[in-house]
Amino acid sequence: MTNELLQNAQWYAESFAARSLSGEPALHVAVVACMDARLDPRGLLGLRDGDAHVIRNAGGVVTPDVIRSLTISQRLLGTEEIVLIHHTRCGMLAITNDEFRERLRADTGMEPDWEPGAFRSLEQSIRQSAAQIAACPFIPYKHSIRGFVFDVETGSLEEISLPQLIAR
Ligand code: ZN
Repeated sequence: MTNELLQNAQWYAESFAARSLSGEPALHVAVVACMDARLDPRGLLGLRDGDAHVIRNAGGVVTPDVIRSLTISQRLLGTEEIVLIHHTRCGMLAITNDEFRERLRADTGMEPDWEPGAFRSLEQSIRQSAAQIAACPFIPYKHSIRGFVFDVETGSLEEISLPQLIAR
């Protein structure tokens, strides 16, 4: 399968218009989203090359590495707004941290030194993620942190209201 993807990359390069986009996102926005294959943040938000940082992981949760990326995004690359996107039918709703850790322990005899990042509620996880960002001293711009849930069946995006503390 990877070889087929490499063929696609060759075609991509052939039709790639030479250009000199800045490494600083043109819209000054960083998006944190689940890696789910049904969620396409670029298509959903109408982003073009060079427009935004899109940081993805399982669940779209705020991990130490997301904090690292957001810090670099804002401090070195000029982004100021943050968009969080979770989605319906997320795999992280279907497991618990303890169950998953136990499964790994049973299979490998070892425990991960990272949090699986499971959550029970999309809304709660979005609020938690926003609160973690709001509490982080390394991230300077917090005036626009907004959270959303993408519906993988209808394609619609619903905004989650955040506590006043965060949505300043
Ligand atoms: Zn997901």
